[in-house]
Amino acid sequence: MMDRVAARRASGATVISLSAGEPDSDTPEHVRDAGVAAIRAGHTRYTQVAGMQALREAVAAKFRNENGLAVEWQDTIVCSGGKHVIFNALAATLNEGDEVIVPAPYWVSCPEIVALSGARVVTVPCGVGTGFKLTPEALAAAITPRTRWLILNSPSNPTGAVYTRDELLALAEVLLANPHVLVLSDDIYEHLIFDGASFHTLAQVEPRLAPRTLTMNGVSKAYAMTGWRIGFGTGPRWLLDAMEKLQGQQTSGASSVSQHAAVAALTGPQDFIARSRGVFEGRRDLMVRMLNEARGLSCAVPGGAFYAFASCEGLIGKVTAAGTRLETDEDVAIALLNEGGVGVVHGSAFGLGPYIRIAYALDDASLLKACRTIQAFCGSLTEGA
Ligand code: PLP
Repeated sequence: MMDRVAARRASGATVISLSAGEPDSDTPEHVRDAGVAAIRAGHTRYTQVAGMQALREAVAAKFRNENGLAVEWQDTIVCSGGKHVIFNALAATLNEGDEVIVPAPYWVSCPEIVALSGARVVTVPCGVGTGFKLTPEALAAAITPRTRWLILNSPSNPTGAVYTRDELLALAEVLLANPHVLVLSDDIYEHLIFDGASFHTLAQVEPRLAPRTLTMNGVSKAYAMTGWRIGFGTGPRWLLDAMEKLQGQQTSGASSVSQHAAVAALTGPQDFIARSRGVFEGRRDLMVRMLNEARGLSCAVPGGAFYAFASCEGLIGKVTAAGTRLETDEDVAIALLNEGGVGVVHGSAFGLGPYIRIAYALDDASLLKACRTIQAFCGSLTEGA
């Protein structure tokens, strides 16, 4: 969709893109300054493969203080982005024929990374009825002797769903009965959680799972640092060692300059996080209200991240002003872009249709304009001939 948005813009069209998964604000100034200072100080050389000790210490302190995990710096790894943490963990452990349970809708990269490793993706549909969340029953039914990993992501991309402590405990019960299953907890949206809710991660709520859980996080979403490419994780040392071995022959240590900036992000003032959470929560309220006012759309209230995942079932079969019959959610996304100038991503790209994912990482005025356009587009659809 981002390519389609770019192509429309190149052809001269004005497009409001609600398709990108990154905060719209700049990296906090003191973090940018730390990056510049690192360059000036000559911190421009290779670092240790698993990351600079100063950053690993900051990461360990983050996991201890924010997540209650008993972690020393040696229990951490730093990679070139959160995606790279996931990639290294799966590539280092999966063999052909292994199975990985991925609740759907999922972040698009998950099944692709699993497939790259030659393993089999076992998707488990998690519809609006369960808040787009995996239930213990569905998890138990999906586990086989070949299951190697379960991937959990909360708050979720693309739905914004957040697992409560009790929901995680219920999943943990199933996992405790299946000691062959590793768990990847993708916590990258940890700080974007709304309505005063608390964030919980699996290894914290059930410490008995910590020896087989990789808790993944990074600075991308929390500190608006997507381009710096720093992600990190904690888990059992055998797994971290395997990931480091792989990383050593692949990218080596992450960018030295970015690692210095990430130390500043994790150890410096944290007010940016609360501010950005407040901004996103306000936008969430605006988006959900306006999407639910659009004829044919229905949107549950997401508890976190910066995505709204709206059912567009009510648009399927309808005909646009330009005469396009909307057969699928991809048709909806394309017509909305071509005829309304608003870029969204179709839900089936995330493994669940007919939905559209709307990223509200844009200023309020643009979001308001985009919502009005979406409402007008939905209102203009007809039954056709
Ligand atoms: N996990 C989820 C669910 C994401 O949405 C993203 C980025 O979009 C990532 C991980 C990866 O983040 P990073 O940019 O740090 O690689």
